[in-house]
Amino acid sequence: MTEMSRRNLLTATAVGGAVAAVGTAANAAVFGNPDRPPQGAINVANPVTLKNPGPQNAALADEFPSFQNPPATDVDGMDLFWASFNNAHKRIQNGGWAREVTQADFAISEAVSGVNMRLGPGGVRELHWHQQAEWAVMTDGKCRITVIDGDGRPAVRDVKEGELWYFPPGLPHSLQGLGPSGAEFTLVFDNGHSSEFNTLLLTDWIAHTPPEILAENFNLPVSAFKNIPVDNLWIYQAPEPPPLAQVQRAIASPYGEPEFEFTFSMNDMKPTRATRGGEVKVIDSRNFPISKTIAAALVTIKPGGLRELHWHPNADEWQYYLKGRARMTVFNTGPRAQTADFRPGDLGYVKKSFGHYVQNVGNTDLVFLEIFKAERFAEVSLIQWLACTPPELVSQHLNMDPALIAQFSKARPDVLPV
Ligand code: MN
Ligand code: MN
Repeated sequence: MTEMSRRNLLTATAVGGAVAAVGTAANAAVFGNPDRPPQGAINVANPVTLKNPGPQNAALADEFPSFQNPPATDVDGMDLFWASFNNAHKRIQNGGWAREVTQADFAISEAVSGVNMRLGPGGVRELHWHQQAEWAVMTDGKCRITVIDGDGRPAVRDVKEGELWYFPPGLPHSLQGLGPSGAEFTLVFDNGHSSEFNTLLLTDWIAHTPPEILAENFNLPVSAFKNIPVDNLWIYQAPEPPPLAQVQRAIASPYGEPEFEFTFSMNDMKPTRATRGGEVKVIDSRNFPISKTIAAALVTIKPGGLRELHWHPNADEWQYYLKGRARMTVFNTGPRAQTADFRPGDLGYVKKSFGHYVQNVGNTDLVFLEIFKAERFAEVSLIQWLACTPPELVSQHLNMDPALIAQFSKARPDVLPV
């Protein structure tokens, strides 16, 4: 084949391909199916195309209907913003277990890593500390925490389901499951690289300090330390602890009590906003003053409800799904838009300022936490922004009757319907 004839053939093929694409994409570039080139099953003429005859795990694939068959408004690709504790490996020891999702598993999750931990009755997460702050939510049972601040003022508290704790960076602490059912909780570190399997442990430090230094530091003979563990404990089984009041008396410090509470109850707070569609409780340094690096929102969406189109101007959002079934679409420049499905124990992630909405697609309440590495919760509501923009400007952008734009809410709905 000559160079010229090959070029002619390529041109002919390209033209033919373009004609075929136009033929099967008659619905594209229209309302509800805007993409160029057209994307989504709506554009496929022959249903055989949509089959998935290759290898697959149907049980797993069926968990992700929006990945299997994205809406026609989805376009291009996006860094995966779905992860889960459900497929995270458990590290189990006598007394409890933990599993984690760090940036090593969830590349997009730069600001935050998450740890899901269970401590049976009496089970102890050993005395330790780390460079990152630790925020936690109790999801079952009861737990005892101990901590001391940088001015030598200790605290011990018991927390139950729906309560939070926050340990500022570097402050040492312990956790212990209480009877009768122990505790389950999820921790958030304010750094995507942080790992629960890599913390500064009391037992490691003592074992790796020369015995004569231990003797001098604690003003005891070297023989006092001869039974210290050589290996760390991390999680271990202990008897249940004495009553709280007794322990609080035992740990009293000459420097007094800490300035701020390390714990917070979401159960006792009124919703920051409640609508017919659900409610939002915002917990940040304004009502939980010690929590300087983590802001949170506990969102409940009733069946059929919608967490409105919005974004967060100040931080990435790490989501932890607690109950129900959700679908979220994330929007980025490009344009790019991608939809994903979430169930309890799953995690979502939305980069700072990327647009998103969350829909309850189940028939029970959807409950999830929005976590931000920030001092304060902040959000831009699409509808409220447009309601507070000159109406003729909005009308020009959306090609809509200004009378309809005048109906946009000047108050943030948060969860719809209002
Ligand atoms: Mn910790
Ligand atoms: Mn959000």
